[in-house]
Amino acid sequence: MLRLPFFTYLQPKTLSDALAMKRDAGPDGMFVAGGTDLYPNMKRRHQEPKTVISLMAIPELQRSDERVVGAALTLTDVAVRPSGRPTVITTAARLVSTPLLRNMGTLGGNLCLDTRCNYYNQSYEWRKSIDFCMKKDGHICWVAPSSPRCWAVSSSDVAPVMVAIGAEYRLVGPQGERVVPAGRFYQNDGINYLTKQPDEILVDVRLPASNGWDAVYHKLRRRGAFDFPVLGVAAWIQWKGKNVTAARIVLGGVASYPQEVAEAGAALEGAPLTDDAIAAAADAAYRPSKPMDNTDFDLSWRKQMTRVYVARALQELRDRAGA
Ligand SMILES: Cc1cc2nc3c(=O)[nH]c(=O)nc-3n(C[C@H](O)[C@H](O)[C@H](O)COP(=O)(O)OP(=O)(O)OC[C@H]3O[C@@H](n4cnc5c(N)ncnc54)[C@H](O)[C@@H]3O)c2cc1C
Ligand code: SF4
Repeated sequence: MLRLPFFTYLQPKTLSDALAMKRDAGPDGMFVAGGTDLYPNMKRRHQEPKTVISLMAIPELQRSDERVVGAALTLTDVAVRPSGRPTVITTAARLVSTPLLRNMGTLGGNLCLDTRCNYYNQSYEWRKSIDFCMKKDGHICWVAPSSPRCWAVSSSDVAPVMVAIGAEYRLVGPQGERVVPAGRFYQNDGINYLTKQPDEILVDVRLPASNGWDAVYHKLRRRGAFDFPVLGVAAWIQWKGKNVTAARIVLGGVASYPQEVAEAGAALEGAPLTDDAIAAAADAAYRPSKPMDNTDFDLSWRKQMTRVYVARALQELRDRAGA
């Protein structure tokens, strides 16, 4: 049985207390929300905080209305759709793992989820037997041994959706508050996968007004319940009548960040969503989709599925619009 290491657990009731506790704990302190990612990681010694600061008792992170979703809402809360909240978010939240996990796991934890890799998501002893890897305790990348970087995979279901719809994240840290577009919150590096500083708290997510856009999320995984995505496709379209005026296609599970494929969106703009336009966008998304051999399934099959899943997502959007 894997055991948690000893640590001090703090439960602040305000944002300023949480920031002060993190300042006092320094690099040995980490925030936790539902703990469904952090605690298993601590058992495997991926992260080894001496002080764990819970964000669950801070009322500001629990706020929710049509355009704001608090970071400490559970995925179950997010999956229940109050009027006005885009259905694509509730769909993605419902596709995360199992009901038990969604009852504990939060939106903020999902959006800050650690990147994953077959050589990393293993026990300490397993990782030691291969002399570890660059992401933790080692020097080499076993997926791409000559690579100077880590290729661990962004495996959040909700993050690609937030990037696709153009949501914004509100962060509060020792330097004050800032709001960043979801697309700039992530970067393609398996170790430094967030642009957020360790002492910044994700307080809430600001959703765009619904003004003629629609979006869908499709997920590929081995088991229809439980498993992480090995491919996620978030597709967003701004409609004007039957014409597409703007589009974004964002892929999850194929890079260390939710990867927007600008060429795929561009292939759709300024015309109706015809079969040819869908095929062109699916092809444009297929080319830069470069899954690595570090998650489930054969990697060339996963790449091929990009074309299929993008086409399916766009067909669903067309059917919903009756276009
Ligand atoms: C068996 C299993 C299956 C899973 N399947 C899926 C899946 O299908 N899809 C999927 O997307 N995920 C999946 N997950 C991952 C994870 O459980 C969820 O993504 C969940 O939403 C994480 O939320 P949490 O609140 O538990 O995060 P935590 O574990 O509390 O935190 C995760 C990370 O985010 C940081 N953090 C959390 N909240 C904040 C905040 N507000 N501000 C700043 N930093 C913060 C923490 O410091 C930590 O580094 C799975 C996990 C398990 C164990
Ligand atoms: S991609 Fe390479 S460095 Fe990153 S976790 Fe996997 S083996 Fe380690």
